[in-house]
Amino acid sequence: KRDYNQETKAELKPSNAPLINDESADFAKLGINKTLCRCLEQKLGYAKPTKIQRAVIPALITGDDDMFVQAQTGSGKTLAFSVPIIERLMRASDGSVNRKSGIFAIVLSPTRELATQTYEFLTNKLCSACHWIVPGLVIGGEKKKSEKARIRKGVNILVATPGRLADHIENTNKLDLSKVRYLVLDEGDRMMDLGFEEAIGKLLTCLESVFEPRLPQNLQNCLPAKRVNILCSATMEGTVKKLGQMSLKDAKLITTDNGK
Ligand code: ADP
Ligand code: MG
Repeated sequence: KRDYNQETKAELKPSNAPLINDESADFAKLGINKTLCRCLEQKLGYAKPTKIQRAVIPALITGDDDMFVQAQTGSGKTLAFSVPIIERLMRASDGSVNRKSGIFAIVLSPTRELATQTYEFLTNKLCSACHWIVPGLVIGGEKKKSEKARIRKGVNILVATPGRLADHIENTNKLDLSKVRYLVLDEGDRMMDLGFEEAIGKLLTCLESVFEPRLPQNLQNCLPAKRVNILCSATMEGTVKKLGQMSLKDAKLITTDNGK
């Protein structure tokens, strides 16, 4: 067992990812395909990527490094982690990814509200460019039955609160997490404040034990061979550092002083 107190934050290295410093850079310059660019620019009305998006998106599209993403609230972190995941799933496509292909990404959120917001953003906005990629939501409550049904039908990106996901791992057959290639810990600072350390620790152990290295050929070419962990936080101070030590390996640190 690792002793997290013995480890130093020297594990975090400054990013040497292709940082796009050009403030006039558009989404296409970050390596995003035309269909998704059109969705971002025309459907969502985003003229240009924010600073954190210029840093994170190309790094996650071209590399498979774990990442600590620190930027203030409102800087556009949701898009920064979602777009590369969708981009790489779209590259695998040619009609070969559908809801039955497996769960490739998990996004953990500290609250039901935030999870719902992220899920709706993925479903209604980003995935309108790629309707064959299907997000799912796991927040429990009265919705537990329909959540199970949807998982059984198949989802590709699972947005969840940590406690509820732990519940589904124990109680839902067919929750196959062996193909998960992205784990996003969104608002990591708040997840620690809310006491989710243990639930996240259990999830990490579970993901490790069920990991299936072989993916179908078309997916192998587009998705990371290992699981990429992405920790998002408004701060780098306090208990979120411990969450980083638990969840990240050889992580790149991407931080911006002022987000937009
Ligand atoms: P964070 O997670 O960093 O707090 P969000 O991802 O919630 O920030 O984004 C904050 C707001 O900025 C959202 O309303 C989102 O729609 C908007 N936004 C994100 N990216 C862009 C962009 N490139 N251009 C304009 N607005 C954006
Ligand atoms: Mg956020």
